Amino acid sequence: MSVLVFVESINNKYKKAAFEAVSYGAQLAKAQGVSCTVVTNGSADIAGELGKYGAAKVLNFTSNDMHDTGFVTQVISKAFDQVSAKHLVISDNSRGKALAGRLSVRLDAGVVTAAEGLPDSDGNIKRAVYSGKAFASYAVSSDKSIISISRNAVPVTDTGSAVSAEAMDVAGITPPTSLVEVKRVEGTIPLPEAELVVSAGRGMKGPENWGIIDDLANVLGATTACSRPVSDTGWRPHHEHVGQTGIAIKPNLYIAIGISGAIQHLAGVNSSNTIVVINKDPEAPFFKAADYGIIGDLFDVVPRLTESLKKFKSA
Ligand code: FAD
Repeated sequence: MSVLVFVESINNKYKKAAFEAVSYGAQLAKAQGVSCTVVTNGSADIAGELGKYGAAKVLNFTSNDMHDTGFVTQVISKAFDQVSAKHLVISDNSRGKALAGRLSVRLDAGVVTAAEGLPDSDGNIKRAVYSGKAFASYAVSSDKSIISISRNAVPVTDTGSAVSAEAMDVAGITPPTSLVEVKRVEGTIPLPEAELVVSAGRGMKGPENWGIIDDLANVLGATTACSRPVSDTGWRPHHEHVGQTGIAIKPNLYIAIGISGAIQHLAGVNSSNTIVVINKDPEAPFFKAADYGIIGDLFDVVPRLTESLKKFKSA
């Protein structure tokens, strides 16, 4: 018996979320007294490296059909049966969200999405609810379960050693669709995956002032975001809008510049690991959610911060 973890490599590389999922699966397996198996696409050498995060066994496959969630669902189901798994661990990213429902039906398994940690001693799993304002505990009553884990919910534990991956035969699995064309945006890390985010609001006064935000983001290697009125008025593109009605993010660092911290904005960003707020109003609500705050005029503070970071990086 096994805990099965699915992780995806993109261009034969794994993101941190993959290591988190394997670390989580290994800890869950240890608590259940079973072993942890990983199923993954990609070459055997990089797949075998997942042993370092606690995978006792790695099944790898190569395919040009990873675009098709129906195909990936069938591969995971096959691996689930092959290793007689009872629990499946996936990441709570866009792929995981698409997989969870399909796999739940196919495997007849209960699902807990966006888990914030391992099951407690009663088997209950905690997840955030009401836009991150509260936590709820869920118990899965079915025999099999699927857990998708939230970003940064568990630390990566790199204590094992590489294993030799076993090739999984997926030749008989036919994807229901075929890929016609891919247009990939290169350069910036998409907001849902960004570890560092520099975000700005109406305090910027106008789109012509965004150069100082881009400069700060560039020196940090961060992705840019904005508050809703900023995208509503066309100062910034809609895909940068974060919050209740925009993208919900959970980066390691969120720098909020000239943003008041309305509840609808906080709903999408307050799970960030570290929040830095720059605002000239000491009463701005955002300071209550901040780990670090700078009270000052952003047109003075931001260029100075960028210059200091440049000096720090070159030193
Ligand atoms: P403001 O509230 O105008 O705040 C600007 C801030 O900049 C102020 O705190 C001010 O002190 C500061 N400032 C001004 N000048 C300077 C300066 N020179 N230096 C430093 N600081 C300065 N909003 C979202 O962001 N995301 C959402 O998803 C979202 N969803 C919503 C859904 C609903 C149903 C509703 C009703 C609203 C939603 N909103 C959302 C809007 C939200 O309520 C706020 O109106 C919005 O977040 C405010 O944006 P802001 O902080 O950029 O602007």
